[in-house]
Amino acid sequence: VRAAYITEHGDPKVLKVGDIPPPEPGPGQVRVRVHFSSLNHLDIWIRKGLPGLKLSYPHILGADSSGIVDKVGPGTTTKVGAEVIVYPALSCGTCHECREGTESLCAHYKILGEHVSGTNAEFIVVPEANLFEKPKMVTFEVAAAFPLAYVTAWEMVVTKARVKAGQRVLVHGAGSGVSSAAIQIAKHFGAEVIATSTDDRKLDAAKAWGADTVVNSRTNDFAASAKKVDVIIDHVGQVFWEKNIRCLKTGGILVTCGATSGFDAKTDLRHVFFRQLRLVGSTMGSRRDFPDILRLIREGKLSPIVDKTFPLEDIAAAHMHMESAKQVGKILISL
Ligand SMILES: [Zn+2]
Repeated sequence: VRAAYITEHGDPKVLKVGDIPPPEPGPGQVRVRVHFSSLNHLDIWIRKGLPGLKLSYPHILGADSSGIVDKVGPGTTTKVGAEVIVYPALSCGTCHECREGTESLCAHYKILGEHVSGTNAEFIVVPEANLFEKPKMVTFEVAAAFPLAYVTAWEMVVTKARVKAGQRVLVHGAGSGVSSAAIQIAKHFGAEVIATSTDDRKLDAAKAWGADTVVNSRTNDFAASAKKVDVIIDHVGQVFWEKNIRCLKTGGILVTCGATSGFDAKTDLRHVFFRQLRLVGSTMGSRRDFPDILRLIREGKLSPIVDKTFPLEDIAAAHMHMESAKQVGKILISL
């Protein structure tokens, strides 16, 4: 079966497309014929290599996917032919964190395509517990576009920041998958949203998704439009950090899930204790929230954005497109 994989770290040229033996579902597992997979920044980090991450080659990238169940292992109840969304993370399911619904803190937490084989393949095998039924009105494209981005954004906006109606929420990097989700989720909960980007096309898109104020952070000072915000949703990191700290109102909360501009940020701790700020880290989220997210998408209250679809054979071009940062929404891989 066709799959995209790497056998070494490096630039997009290390991505190879070739044939691998079809994976066979074991007990409690199902095989999914993948229709679409989507790219996340995680794919690029893994392709380039992360400290401490040891892969067994060939390594298939990709976290998100949608498709049709094609074969089932012993002890499963899913029917062959079921249209499904594959939840992109695995955890032990039995430890304290898993039982509390905070499984991204599980010692055995794994994201597909990072610690284990991913979804950039015609056929994948996953635990049956990772399947969610794809509603008929949700397309396979949208089903593959939203899981990782929306679960990550939901965790930041709803679970960690507890955004409420009337609060002012600043979302950086408006064109990314997580930020486009965060803008929509914050608006759904009644917040006033200020969105930043260095690209006017992405700011136009942010307005369409409901942002009340948009700021081009290359040509304008976002701090002038974002005074005394309750919540900041950030993955830009270093270049905005000191300004972010100053924009927060007393008791405000900054949630970070990344540092695309650099991680070596400087924090004036006097702001943190005198103004009682909360600086909170976030990675992925909880599958407990997935049914709520899926329901809001089915009802049209959240609309995952697809930028462009590439065939599997052109996955290197898809990675380059993502690295060019020109995309507005998610990049899909068609299988
Ligand atoms: Zn666990």
